[in-house]
Amino acid sequence: MSSNHTETTAAAVTVTVIGLGPMGRAMAAALLDRGYEVTVWNRTASRADDLVDRGARLAPNVGAAVAANELVVLSLTDYAAMYDLLEPVADRLAGRVLVNLSSDTPEEARKAARWAADRGAVQLTGGVTVPPSGIGKPESSTFYSGPRAVFDRHRQVLEAITGRTDHKGEDAGLAALFYQIGMTMFWTSMLGYWQATALARANGLTATDILDHAVDTANSLPGFLAFYAGRIDAGRHDGDVDRLAMGTASAEHVLHTHADAGVDTALPAAVAELFRRGMAAGGAADSFSGLVDLMGKPA
Ligand code: NDP
Repeated sequence: MSSNHTETTAAAVTVTVIGLGPMGRAMAAALLDRGYEVTVWNRTASRADDLVDRGARLAPNVGAAVAANELVVLSLTDYAAMYDLLEPVADRLAGRVLVNLSSDTPEEARKAARWAADRGAVQLTGGVTVPPSGIGKPESSTFYSGPRAVFDRHRQVLEAITGRTDHKGEDAGLAALFYQIGMTMFWTSMLGYWQATALARANGLTATDILDHAVDTANSLPGFLAFYAGRIDAGRHDGDVDRLAMGTASAEHVLHTHADAGVDTALPAAVAELFRRGMAAGGAADSFSGLVDLMGKPA
């Protein structure tokens, strides 16, 4: 494999994967399934055992793993782990393409791209949108950002990891930003579901009892997103369909329902507080979409 990415024109056929948590193991397995030669390395070496049985090469140390291939996939807990591992072998990084599929903040991704460039390497930032079970599946998708030409050159390998690859732009932070946008919605939505389930259980209902209702409620959300997106972009928060005053009364009902049931109220109290702040800012007659503007500034 060429050690100089600027001279390589064909898609890489040998790949290094560093970090063998559930994600990295699934990625290395997907690459092996597609016939790629895969070199792996992990701090806890035993995590490579199954992959070695399937034909992966276990590098003796992280420096050798980096030296083995131009394309180095990183699947670590965060970017701090990357510095821990790669700073001591920084002299091996020149010419490498670091496909960083570890999640972290957009700022950390930008900082890491500069760090890599200072050492002669290129970073492609990735934001994986599926759990390990989605790795290797054609319907799964990953956000990427960083140099477009480098992305295009390695696209075939990246499509072995997730079938769809969505390059968001040259800015190294963009893939991380899209990832964090998704996680913002995922964590709050799932906590909303845990909260609703806690309320149901406090009232003698099981998670299964409310499953259909929970799914119907979740399935109603795409219609709301599509309805409000254009209006938000146009700066319109007309109270023609909903009014913040109505939403605030509802949020208070939700809060009191949880208090009456004797369950934790931290989440519904935070929601009610945002509605109250919108009212205090004079938005009573506007749509609750006006909370976007409120939430766009520091509290
Ligand atoms: P884990 O945290 O389980 O494993 C990550 C790997 O990082 C392990 O191989 C671990 O090594 C290594 N590691 C962590 N800290 C250090 C360090 N200081 N030095 C050396 N190695 C270190 O993560 P996952 O495999 O679940 O996920 C990997 C990335 O993918 C994360 O950034 C995660 O946010 C992201 N992601 C995960 C999803 C999931 O469902 N799992 C979904 C979408 C994104 P060791 O084995 O020795 O502990």
